[in-house]
Amino acid sequence: MSDLENFREETRYWLAQNCPPGARGVGQIPFGSRSIELEPDTALWLTRMADKGWTVPTWPKQYGGAELDRDQYTILIDELKRIEARTPLTGRGVNYIGPTILELGTDDQKQRWLPQIARGDGGWAMGYSEPGAGSDLASLATKAEKAGDNYIVNGRKSWTSDATHCDYIFVLVRTSPDKPKHEGISLVLVDMSQQGVQVEPIRLISGVSPFCETTFDNAIVPVNDVVGGVDRGWTAGKRLLQFERSTHAGINISGSQGGRTEESKIPQTVKSYVGMSAGRLADSALRDRLVRHDMNSHAQRVTQRRAIEESQARAPGFTSSAVKLTNALNIQEGDELVMAAMGSRGMAWSESQTATEDEIKTTQSFLYNKSLTIAGGTKEVQLNIIAKRVLGLPD
Ligand SMILES: Cc1cc2nc3c(=O)[nH]c(=O)nc-3n(C[C@H](O)[C@H](O)[C@H](O)COP(=O)(O)OP(=O)(O)OC[C@H]3O[C@@H](n4cnc5c(N)ncnc54)[C@H](O)[C@@H]3O)c2cc1C
Repeated sequence: MSDLENFREETRYWLAQNCPPGARGVGQIPFGSRSIELEPDTALWLTRMADKGWTVPTWPKQYGGAELDRDQYTILIDELKRIEARTPLTGRGVNYIGPTILELGTDDQKQRWLPQIARGDGGWAMGYSEPGAGSDLASLATKAEKAGDNYIVNGRKSWTSDATHCDYIFVLVRTSPDKPKHEGISLVLVDMSQQGVQVEPIRLISGVSPFCETTFDNAIVPVNDVVGGVDRGWTAGKRLLQFERSTHAGINISGSQGGRTEESKIPQTVKSYVGMSAGRLADSALRDRLVRHDMNSHAQRVTQRRAIEESQARAPGFTSSAVKLTNALNIQEGDELVMAAMGSRGMAWSESQTATEDEIKTTQSFLYNKSLTIAGGTKEVQLNIIAKRVLGLPD
């Protein structure tokens, strides 16, 4: 038996023994928040996987990982999927700031932050966007001024998802206002339990939302919590964005989620609404769209695998933008298809006598997924990156 076959067998055995029933199938997935209570099996699964180093399987052992190589990682993901085990830990800790610290942090930062992130001890929010800085992120105005061994942070960040349940936030701040705008930015780590950090949820037209606005009023950041160097935050911040985009794309192998793409349920759903005639989907126009979507989905899954295999790091660079964009467009295309098949049943927003719970969820996810071409950088921004950085077209 080859080493990899051995690894598969041992992994399969270990997972069968250690993955509790309540951690399989649809259910709770932790992102490290200390204020969200975990169900017993979710908590047990997280502890066992963290002890094994499999919440961050590719990280070095000294920082809480298991040092799996790419092939072993792929086997682990396959085996998790085989028994429908949920990922033990997700979020901006293991997927965004963790791998950024691993690549660009100091030894001290790695020792202080990474083992804690790997155990899911603390949820992380992301403080990039501001009222006047979205796509043009380098226009950000939140500032950090040095005072002895600390930086004092003042400003306002918008769309900080999940911030009400987070314990830490990584923030892009302006440390040198006199330098050209891309050169005076730093990436800092902020403890959200201090008085100088205030979080307000943002209500949307649909009611509750995970969005928040986070205000910094003389918030304190120790000087040794600047990641990637003072005034070097544009480089560190962009690398973090690649980790974010590759997570959206399913090709970030920092945590235990990369490559866990599910088989699409769309053909089944469409068939259940449109019906069959002579062994084929009754509506020929929808049939064409469904076939095209199925082919696109397959191509997307193969591309994700290839991107993981070809990347020399835990997430690729500019390729992330391309795979993130095609992933989002593919999901939206599938949603449109399901909506077309459902007709008026796809209009249900909240409980009604005619709509089932599944139908309401389908409509809500159709609406939510519209944000996939905005979050983590808009479709147009990704197209600009692909044009300039992947295709080498002139600025
Ligand atoms: C679900 C979701 C979660 C989010 N979570 C977070 C979070 O946790 N933390 C955080 O910091 N931010 C978060 N954001 C914010 C997100 O990063 C921004 O919405 C995004 O970067 C776009 O910025 P904007 O909304 O200011 O739009 P704008 O930048 O104002 O863009 C408006 C429109 O102009 C287009 N446009 C702008 N510039 C160009 C250009 N140069 N070329 C072509 N077209 C252009 C855009 O594509 C867009 O269509 C989240 C957003 C969403 C939808």
